[in-house]
Amino acid sequence: MNTSDKQFLSNSLKRIFVYLGIALTISFLVPFPASFVIIIITVFTISFMRRKMITKNTGINIKGMFGSTSSRPYEYSHVKYFCMSCGYQHKEASCPKCGSKMKRIG
Ligand SMILES: [Zn+2]
Repeated sequence: MNTSDKQFLSNSLKRIFVYLGIALTISFLVPFPASFVIIIITVFTISFMRRKMITKNTGINIKGMFGSTSSRPYEYSHVKYFCMSCGYQHKEASCPKCGSKMKRIG
């Protein structure tokens, strides 16, 4: 968590510097009222593109989360199977006591 926090901080710092650099460059190149409009448009475009990228990334993350929950060794370990003919609790395909393949979940 700490490393990702630091990464996030340095990323937002980088972004601020990028924005500042763009703003300075535009204000040097273009006279004031026009440069102001261009800076706003550029910043909006960049943040919009970033948001698009972020939603793409979280989409993948959500998929990964669902993938990990749907693989279910944990859930399986809590399900108990009982033999239908002798009532013996087991996890085998067929009952180790009487060999019956009929079982119920309890
Ligand atoms: Zn049995």
